Order: sequence, then structure tokens, then C-alpha cells
Amino acid sequence: MYSYSHSTALVIGAGLGGIVTAARLAQAGFSVKVLEKQEAPGGRCSQLIRDGHRFDIGATLFLMPEVFAETYTALGERMEDHLELHRIDPTYRIRFGDDTQLALTSNLNSMEQQLEAIEPGSFGGLLRYLVEGYDAYHLSLQRFVGRNFYHFSEYFSLQNLPLLFKLKALVKHYHNIGRYFHDPRLKAAFTFQNMYLGLSPFDAPATYSLVQYTELAEGVWYPLGGIYRVIESLVGIADGYGVNFMYNTPVKQIEVVENRATGVLLQNGSRLSADVIVVNADLPYAYSHLLPDSAEAHRLEQLKYTCSAIMFYWGVDKVYPQLGTHNVFLADDYRTSFDRIFNDHLLPDQPSFYVHAPARTDPSAAPVGQDTLMVLVPAGHLDAGTTQNWDALQAHARSAVIHRLAASTGIIDLEQHLKFEVSYTPRDWLSLYNLAKGAAFGLSHNFMQVGYLRPHNRHHHYGNLYFVGSSTHPGTGLPMVLLSARLTTERILKENEVPNPALSLRPSLAV
Ligand SMILES: Cc1cc2nc3c(=O)[nH]c(=O)nc-3n(C[C@H](O)[C@H](O)[C@H](O)COP(=O)(O)OP(=O)(O)OC[C@H]3O[C@@H](n4cnc5c(N)ncnc54)[C@H](O)[C@@H]3O)c2cc1C
Repeated sequence: MYSYSHSTALVIGAGLGGIVTAARLAQAGFSVKVLEKQEAPGGRCSQLIRDGHRFDIGATLFLMPEVFAETYTALGERMEDHLELHRIDPTYRIRFGDDTQLALTSNLNSMEQQLEAIEPGSFGGLLRYLVEGYDAYHLSLQRFVGRNFYHFSEYFSLQNLPLLFKLKALVKHYHNIGRYFHDPRLKAAFTFQNMYLGLSPFDAPATYSLVQYTELAEGVWYPLGGIYRVIESLVGIADGYGVNFMYNTPVKQIEVVENRATGVLLQNGSRLSADVIVVNADLPYAYSHLLPDSAEAHRLEQLKYTCSAIMFYWGVDKVYPQLGTHNVFLADDYRTSFDRIFNDHLLPDQPSFYVHAPARTDPSAAPVGQDTLMVLVPAGHLDAGTTQNWDALQAHARSAVIHRLAASTGIIDLEQHLKFEVSYTPRDWLSLYNLAKGAAFGLSHNFMQVGYLRPHNRHHHYGNLYFVGSSTHPGTGLPMVLLSARLTTERILKENEVPNPALSLRPSLAV
């Protein structure tokens, strides 16, 4: 155990980013308190348990296992001692508007048969696309997302500039996919994953072909017990390092004096002070609600945000074998759907959606003979300038999902078998987790909002105030948030001249 530091740290928020940063700081000798507004940890990885049905509230896809493994190793643990991972293959079943189906799988023979039936010659396109994704994945991880950029010149260095072009950071993903596939169904099948980052493929950089590569090559995994198992195990490790988790403890304000953050004022009126403060709560929300800097808050308000999601969590009293673990239903009018979400901040007339049926892989997610279904319908984020009737949009989403399930899968009796329904709209993402604009994935990841151009993980004025999580570098999604926790911790330790115990423990993902 290291004892170089007797410094204190407060972490605001027990989302994945907050938990891991707290554990890493405690491991380095900090005395750490985590302040969480909810009654339990997890944030967007929280869970809901009702009548024997277990739902992951947000994340369901466990991608890039090597990044998770790095976190456990850096904390002196082995991932396999904490998580029982199952590979999901086929990764998803995609159903297109014309009811053609495609089961994305790492089995290349099966992919060849399915793709060639849709577009002759397209299997070659897939192989070339995967090569591009391989390069994008490894180069991005090593050169862009797995490191801190302290200066503009480090990001736009002579070494990095050619890489930005090689990674097609300025080319739109949907445009680029046309080099590999012509059939609109295949173009959709290999770009809709941008929605996991809350982006439209018509706006996302082509670099994000790396997601499709990781899914097919590195795999889509599922930890038995659900994604929440990751949260439970990391909280357990943090506990072991002495982190003090305080739930039902919303922070009202970060207190500042000159160029330092001195502590926090809690909603209950008490105060806590610390040497270092780390904000895991959504970064734009922290600037607008917890800090005095209104000019920066206003600038952040003007940035682009990811989409939101209308959610349904359904406990049903029978099993629907038509559904696999991950199911994607794509609408016909692909482009219009995205315009409706990202330009109008509303819901398409015929929405695309995703259904997660975890009991296919993990029977403990539902009572025997019953099903646990989570439905995610991408929708616009909250926008004060648009008339948004969320009750009507929620009702529309529900009816569209039920009709599409009936038409595409023959599930015609869902409503008769519903035991209960829980539903979220963007208003809930805002009120439950303080996500700015209810944007489910935080700030967007267009070219102007990634790397050095994304809000930094240290405040520009208060030198001991740091950020971790989806809306700072490198971005959204569980692997990126784990990297964010590493990068923020490295920066804190470096700037406080505390040795980093993880350096001797973790395999390096960064150069
Ligand atoms: C519907 C949905 C589906 C997703 N699917 C996937 C997926 O399949 N795979 C994947 O990799 N990623 C997925 N993601 C993204 C992933 O869940 C997030 O990027 C990640 O969980 C964010 O973690 P975080 O630590 O940045 O923040 P959060 O999880 O938002 O945690 C921040 C915490 O801060 C707390 N907080 C906020 N304000 C205060 C305050 N004032 N005082 C105290 N506490 C406060 C919040 O309650 C919350 O617990 C999904 C997200 C959503 C919403």
C-alpha cells in the first residue's frame, strides 16, 4: 500500500467514472469520499429489479474487454475473478423495414452467405471495412483516446495531423460506408452503431467504424448478473481501498476561492472540504449548476449534444423466443429518422429501436418461463426552443414499438402479458442523473468536440478541480469512461506529484 499522500479528495457522482477514479486515487494514498445523489451507485449503469425481473437501466453492450481488464489490473485485481463474461454471437439480429433480417456474427461463412444474398459482392466490402475499423481502433486507442492532451500543439502536432486524415476524422461515416456497400440496408447495418455514441452516422466521423470492428472482431460480451455486476465489483474494490461512498447526498454547489475549489455545499446544508475535487456528474450540468462561471456554462450550452432515449422496461409473464439477446429494428427511411432526432429534436414517425432480452444469456434476469425486455427508442434531447410534448412522444414510441414487434416478429399479445412497465423520457434522464438537456450520452463527438477540443478533464481556472466521465475526454460509452478515469487520475497524481501505483500494475494501452 502506498502512503506518499495524506491528501483528501471528493468525487461528485458514483457513476462508472466516479467509482474508478475514486478507487484509483485511494489506491495512490488519497482519502476519498464519493458523494452520490441517488440511493445507489451506477448512474447510467444503474439497475432496476422488480417482481424477479432484473434490468440494466442504460448500458447493455460490454465492448472492448481489454479496456475493462486494464482497469481491474491497474487496481491490483483480475477481471476474471469478478466478472463471468459470455460472448454474444450473433451480436444482434437486425430487422430492416422490409423485414429482411441480418444476424451480425463473427462467423465469416455465415456473414458471407447473408451479405451476398442482400448485395452480391458485398462480403469483400465487409472485409475491407473491417481492415479500416482495425486501423481506426488501434490507432485511436493508442494515439488519441488513451492519452491526455495538455497543449493544443500536442493534439495538432506534425505527428498527429496525418493520423487525423488516416482515421478519416473529417469524413462523415455514412458517406464513407458507400465505399464498401451500396445496398441501403447494409449501409444502415454498418452505421447505426453510431447511435451508441448518441450520434447520427450522417454527422459522425468515419473513424467510428472502429465500433463495428470491435463488435465483430473483439466481440460483444455480457457479464452474468448484468452490466451492474461491473459496478458492484468496482465499488467492492474501491471499498477495499477505503473509499467512503455517501449515497442520497446531492451536491448543491462547488465552493471556490480565487483559483481553487475548496469544497462542496451539500443539498442538506452541510459542507465538506478537500484538496482535490473530481466531478463525475455530467460536465455541462456541473458548469451550469454547481460552479459560478456562467460564461463557460453558456458556451457549453451552445455545443452539440448527443441524442436522448425513450425507454421501456417491461416485465412479461411469458417468453418470446423470437427475440435474441440484442435485437435491432431499423426504420425504412433511415436519413429522415436521423434528421428528426438530431435536427428537429423529436421522434421519427417510424422510429428505429433496440430491444434487449437479457434472460436469453442470463436466466437469472427473469423468473422461469417469463421475460425481461428493455426497449431503447432514440429520440431528440430536450430543447427549450422546440415544442416537445414528451407524453405524446412517449405514447407514440410505445405504440410504434408494439406494432413493429407484431408486424416483424409475430409478437401480437405483448400487452396482454405485460406484468408492469417502467418508462423514461429525456426529462427523466435529466432529473435522475442531471444529464444536461437529458442527452443520454452527454456531449456529442463531432470533430470539434473530441480530443483536445473536448472540454478538458481539469478546470481552466480552478487548478484542483477535475472532471471524469462521458462529457470530458475521451467521451461516452463504458470503455471510454474507464479510459477517462485513468487519464483523470494520471493527471491528478502527476500534478500533485504523487507516485502512480497503477503504472507498475497495468498493461499499457497507450504509447
Ligand atoms: C440508455 C443508454 C444506453 C447505453 N448503452 C451503452 C452500452 O450498451 N454500452 C456502453 O458502453 N455504453 C452505453 N451507454 C453509455 C454509458 O452508460 C455511459 O457513457 C456511462 O455509464 C457514463 O458514466 P459516467 O461515469 O460518465 O456518468 P453517469 O453514469 O452519468 O454518473 C454520474 C453520476 O453523478 C451523479 N450526480 C449527478 N449530479 C450530482 C450531484 N449534484 N450530486 C451528487 N451526485 C450527482 C448521478 O446521479 C450519477 O450517478 C448507454 C447510456 C444510456 C443512457
